[in-house]
Amino acid sequence: MNYEPIIGLEVHVELQTKSKMFCGCLNEPFGSDPNSLTCPTCLGLPGALPVPNREAIKSCLMIGLALGCGVNSRSYFERKNYFYPDLPKGYQISQYQKPFCFGGLIIISDRPIRINRVHLEEDTGKLTHFGRGEAGYSLVNFNRSGVPLVEIVTEPDFNSVENVVEYLQELQRIIRYLGISGADMEKGSMRLEPTVNLRITEAGEIFYTPLAEIKNINSFRFVRKALEYEISRQFKEFTVTRIEKGAGNKITVGFNESQGETYRQREKEEANDYRYFPEPDVPPFDLSAAWLEEIKNNLPELPKGKRERLVKQYGISVYQAGVLGELLERASYFEDLVKAGFTGVRAANLLINHPEILGRNPEAVFREFKKKAEETISDEATLQGIVDEVLAENSGTANQWQQGKKEVLGFLIGQAMKKTQGKSDPRRLAALFEKNLLKP
Ligand code: ZN
Ligand code: MN
Repeated sequence: MNYEPIIGLEVHVELQTKSKMFCGCLNEPFGSDPNSLTCPTCLGLPGALPVPNREAIKSCLMIGLALGCGVNSRSYFERKNYFYPDLPKGYQISQYQKPFCFGGLIIISDRPIRINRVHLEEDTGKLTHFGRGEAGYSLVNFNRSGVPLVEIVTEPDFNSVENVVEYLQELQRIIRYLGISGADMEKGSMRLEPTVNLRITEAGEIFYTPLAEIKNINSFRFVRKALEYEISRQFKEFTVTRIEKGAGNKITVGFNESQGETYRQREKEEANDYRYFPEPDVPPFDLSAAWLEEIKNNLPELPKGKRERLVKQYGISVYQAGVLGELLERASYFEDLVKAGFTGVRAANLLINHPEILGRNPEAVFREFKKKAEETISDEATLQGIVDEVLAENSGTANQWQQGKKEVLGFLIGQAMKKTQGKSDPRRLAALFEKNLLKP
């Protein structure tokens, strides 16, 4: 019996717009006083009317276009009805039949991952639970209620946990490059729900285990742990129960961080249970081709394109381009260093080995580097003289090296550096010492 996981992902990203999705309240849910950023609309009071946020729609389209999606020329919001204490209206304004974007594709480690849809909705309030049982109570903070939220849904195209993590990292980079969200999992501005089951092969027959959707994941580490746990749980369960995927047996599981285990929450609702219907208070959108064209043309360079360009333009390695491209500001600073006079390879090495220089004036860094290079003793005969001197003064240490205590080399180099007041290249010295010490 062997098995392969089948994983699909729903990722929610909170947008960094100035105001909320359907009202003028400030969009600053993190760190503000509880319930200080609310109004009748985001509190769901009767009669309040939603007014959609143009910037949020633009950001949603940017994500969709960056992921190679098509855009529905006509789309609209719908009400997704369900009850939850942090959802005062009793429904969430979301998209169902006509999301803004659909049908994209992203390649992760040579594996095509299809994007089913990218849609826009509003976030709920946030509940905080205190105590347990009779004495327990919960407080609700509506500052997050109505914050614009983009949902990115993939097809179940992942077949490993590694794949999933890579996708999430790339997605996070794309969103940060677009400058529309910090996509910070710890702060809750990027949240994900993987759905997983297994394809089990036994004596030429194939079985699929019931789907499980995992909630409450807020770090890359937990994604990995939750998925690994759930995969092995499903396999063990199948060997005992032999229950296969079927209508209505999808479950929702939570992830308990301290125990590293998933636990069953409820049977999953079907889309029908939400009774979606078009939001009557927000008319449909007919997006103009000109606006879409403008958004498309103004998309910034994306992580993959940047990595490829850095390799091609500066002759650095794929690995180096990966490290530099991880953060937009790091990649930009790298290019500033090259503009200041460094070669590509030199700038890449310098920045990767000394990440703390980021932010320093690149010209000043280059001047300093040049000065040091000029001062460095490069004359072979001079260096040889210094090495001879050090070896003569430290013959005991030299003997130790010859007897196999290789770590004393550092001490010898240190002595030579001292003699040159630091104006020599330790790597050249090391090579020279070794050459001399190996002499019979
Ligand atoms: Zn409001
Ligand atoms: Mn959603």
